[in-house]
Amino acid sequence: MVDLGKLIQERIRDVDDYPKPGVVFKDITPLLADHVAFAGVVDTIVNHHGRGTIDKIVGIEARGFILAAPVAYHFGAGFVPVRKKGKLPARTHAATYDLEYGTETIEIHADAFESGDRVLIVDDVLATGGTARAAADLVRRCGGEVVGLSVLLELSFLHGRDKVGNLDVHSLVTV
Ligand code: AMP
Repeated sequence: MVDLGKLIQERIRDVDDYPKPGVVFKDITPLLADHVAFAGVVDTIVNHHGRGTIDKIVGIEARGFILAAPVAYHFGAGFVPVRKKGKLPARTHAATYDLEYGTETIEIHADAFESGDRVLIVDDVLATGGTARAAADLVRRCGGEVVGLSVLLELSFLHGRDKVGNLDVHSLVTV
């Protein structure tokens, strides 16, 4: 029996001083390259919420896409991208926020949801929580109901949970 939490920790590589001095970047590419770890992560997120409970999965560019797309497939849910400013072709809503290393603007297509769609947001890392909060705001502005946030890794020392309000946060590993 695989200890998934231990495997995830072993497959996430710390890269010091990336993308700027003082930041320890959590590189998930070794995890993605390990099919047991990758499949285990996807299955755990789907099982946590239960098939049939979610209408749309939102993935946040870019690493969030990689996790969110197979989660959407296994849920039987649709996939909706949240992208960096200027990347989505049709009419969008935008949100700007502070990041652990800079500021960011993210966008979503304004017609991404049917009114009342139940939406799960998926990303790789919850750090300061700014990205998750902005993504949740965007979903709500488009008429979706945010059911929760699933992340692979939560950096608890940055207190991201405090920023996302009453959003149900599910993290597979917390450091
Ligand atoms: P935050 O808005 O501070 O919670 O940052 C979360 C977003 O930034 C996620 O989309 C992550 O991919 C990325 N991110 C922030 N900090 C890190 C980190 N230390 N290592 C890897 N990705 C990070």
